[in-house]
Amino acid sequence: VFVSPQPTVLHADLDAFYASVEQRDDPALRGRPVIVGPGVCLAASYEAKAYGVRSGMGAAAARRACPDAVFVRARFEAYTEASKAVFAIFEETSPVVEALSIDEAFLDVRGLEHIRGTPVAIARQLRSDVRERVGLPITVGLARTKFLAKVASACAKPDGLLVVMPDRELEFLHPLPVQALWGVGGKTAAKLHAAGLTTVGEVARVPETLLVEVCGRAAGRQLHALSHNRDPRRVRPRVRRRSIGSQHALGRPRRRSPEELDAVLVGLVDRVTRRMRKARRCGRTVVLRVRFGDYTRATRSRTMVRATAQTEPILATARSVLAAAMPLIETRGLTLLGIAVTNLEDNVGIQLALPLGREREAVVDAAVDDVRARFGTAAITRGVLVGRDRGIEVPLLED
Ligand SMILES: [Mg+2]
Repeated sequence: VFVSPQPTVLHADLDAFYASVEQRDDPALRGRPVIVGPGVCLAASYEAKAYGVRSGMGAAAARRACPDAVFVRARFEAYTEASKAVFAIFEETSPVVEALSIDEAFLDVRGLEHIRGTPVAIARQLRSDVRERVGLPITVGLARTKFLAKVASACAKPDGLLVVMPDRELEFLHPLPVQALWGVGGKTAAKLHAAGLTTVGEVARVPETLLVEVCGRAAGRQLHALSHNRDPRRVRPRVRRRSIGSQHALGRPRRRSPEELDAVLVGLVDRVTRRMRKARRCGRTVVLRVRFGDYTRATRSRTMVRATAQTEPILATARSVLAAAMPLIETRGLTLLGIAVTNLEDNVGIQLALPLGREREAVVDAAVDDVRARFGTAAITRGVLVGRDRGIEVPLLED
C-alpha cells in the first residue's frame, strides 16, 4: 500500500453551503443568521450556528434557538449551479477528484509540484479561486491521508486552511475526541467511553485486541489503524454514471399476459429507482429496451417534464412507453425487457424532500428503501410482485 510521504490529499468542503449561496445572492443576508428551509433547517449560516441552530432541526426549534434568524426558502437550482462551478474548479486543480457530495470532494495533488506548485500553494489557490469565481467560502484540509484531511477541514471551518505536516500528525490527532475517528457515531462513542476511552490518543494507546473486544472485529481494527493515522484509501476519481438501468431476461419467447409484463416492469422500475435514490441521482428520460423473439433489439424512450427519482412517475412513464411498444412485442415476441433512466442530475433535494412532508410518495420510497437496507431486498415487495418469479437478473451495461 502506497501512502504519500508528503501531505498531498486535499479535503475541500464548502462552508454552510446553501446558506452561503443565499448570503452571496442577497447582500441583506450577509453577517446575519440565516436558516434555509422551509419546515426544517436544511442549512444554517455560521451566524445562526453560533446560537446552536443545526441542520435537520425543525423550524420551530430553530426559531426558539435563534429568534432573530432570517428564514429563506431553498433554491435548489442555484445550489446545483454553484456546485457545478465549484467542481469545475476542482477539476482544473487536479486530475484526481473524488466527489463526496454536492459540496465536498477529495483531491490528490501528488505530482503537480512543477505545474501548479506545492500542495499548500495549490490549496491556497483553490480557496481563492472558489471565493473569486463562485463567491463562496470553502475550507480545505491537507494531509497525507484522506481520513486526516477530512479531520483537518472539520477543525479549520469556517473559511480556513489547515495543513497537517507528517511529523505533527499524531500531535494533532490524539487530543481530539473519539468522535473524530471515521465511523464513530453515538453508539461506538458510548462503548469507547464505557471502556474509559474519550480521546483518539487513548484509543491509540490500548492494544488492538481490546478495541476488537469492545467494538467488534472490523470496527476495532479500523479504530486502531485510524488512531495511528493509518488509512490506505486512495483518492479515486469517481466516474459519474450517465444512466442507471436494469434488465430482465424472459427465457423462451411465448405469449405473456399484460399483467405478467407489468409485473416485470414494476420490478425493474423498483430496482432502478432504488439505485437512483441511493446514488442521489434523479433523471428525466425513461428508456425501455426490448429484445424480440429473434434476438434483435429495440429501444423506446420518453422524457418527463422534470427529473425525479421517485418510483411512481417513472413507473407511469415506463408503462406508457411499454404500452406504445406492445403491438410490436405482440407480433415479434419478447425475450428481454430492460429499463434505464438517463439525463441524470444530482438529486440535491431528495433527502430534503422528506422532512418537508411535501411528497407522500417520496416518503413511501424512502421507507421501503430503509426496510430493505436493514432487512434485505426480499423483506418488502410491491403487491404486484408477490409470488412472481423474478427471473434471471442481468446487469445492464451503462451507456
Ligand atoms: Mg460543506
